[in-house]
Amino acid sequence: MIITEAALGALIARAFERHGMTPHNAAIVAGVVAAAERDGAASHGLLRLDGYIATLNSGWVNGEAVPVVTQPAPAILAVDACNGFAQVALAAAREQAIATARREGLAAICIHDSHHFAALWPDVEPFAERGLIAIAMVNARSRIVIWGGKRKVLGTNPMAFACPRSDGPPVVWDQASSLRAQGEVLKARVEGHAVSEGVGLDAEGVPTTDPAKILDGGSLLPFGAHKGAGIAFMVEVLAAAMTGGRFGFQDDSPKFPGAQTSRAGQFLLLIDPSRGPGGDAPSRIAVLVAMLREAGSDRLPGDERCHRRARAVEDGIAIPDATYAKLCKLAGE
Ligand code: NDP
Repeated sequence: MIITEAALGALIARAFERHGMTPHNAAIVAGVVAAAERDGAASHGLLRLDGYIATLNSGWVNGEAVPVVTQPAPAILAVDACNGFAQVALAAAREQAIATARREGLAAICIHDSHHFAALWPDVEPFAERGLIAIAMVNARSRIVIWGGKRKVLGTNPMAFACPRSDGPPVVWDQASSLRAQGEVLKARVEGHAVSEGVGLDAEGVPTTDPAKILDGGSLLPFGAHKGAGIAFMVEVLAAAMTGGRFGFQDDSPKFPGAQTSRAGQFLLLIDPSRGPGGDAPSRIAVLVAMLREAGSDRLPGDERCHRRARAVEDGIAIPDATYAKLCKLAGE
């Protein structure tokens, strides 16, 4: 099935509305899922649809949440997501945060009581498209073992970075603190293949490449051993301790059978480079990128997504017929 991003987003939104989301909230979250399919970020596209629906059905997340935005300090915005999706909370704060960053040079967005079930690049890329540097971090329920620990405390705690450049689209990277995101391990299980060594441990703490053993009671490992562990710790501090969100180990989703999201926090830092001492940062970033390309870096983070996006805009998004049929059913079509 070939479908446009707009048509896919509308269909996903109808499915979400039929499972308890307001049209406003459904459109925002559906937009993120459709964008992931458009960019070929399969681990956070339609693969997650069942998880969203099961979570909504479980009552764990509030699909009708109306976020509350306050500004407790000149450069800090606090957003109570009211147990709704993080993307809805971010949308509520977006324009105020951009205005703050332009006025103060910086803006921190502290979102708490939120659910983030998606990739993070859709959170940061739009800020860089408007000339800002953006960093985003999300904490999640306990999934990784770090610093020689015996059990999971931190989540896969992703972070993303986006910066504008004068001669092309923003440079955006987006990665989990674990060697592989949980979504990638999930995808490997669905596709029936092993993951690489170093990705995770089984329930007994023994290294395994079997995605099922990692997902069923096992754990993930941080990227770069103790160094990635430090990043995961920082994300937990900023996204939970700083925002007022729950730590990953405070998860009580098991009380809501079917719930798959983490009720946690998100931290974003926006920087207006034009207010800094570095001069014309987007032009300087273009010079840096050109030097990297000249040095042989022919794939920068985000390049592959951008290529896939360009193809999808031209040719439409290809989704398997069975997935399309399931989506239509969920949307009541
Ligand atoms: P990857 O390891 O696949 O990619 C990490 C980054 O590196 C991406 O920006 C990617 O760019 C880039 N990249 C990958 N391969 C190369 C290469 N060969 N050369 C240059 N750059 C490269 O991501 P993860 O598995 O760590 O995470 C996948 C997704 O899972 C992320 O989007 C993350 O936000 C999400 N996630 C969400 C969570 C949540 O709670 N919501 C929890 C954990 C993860 P490109 O995009 O172009 O491939």
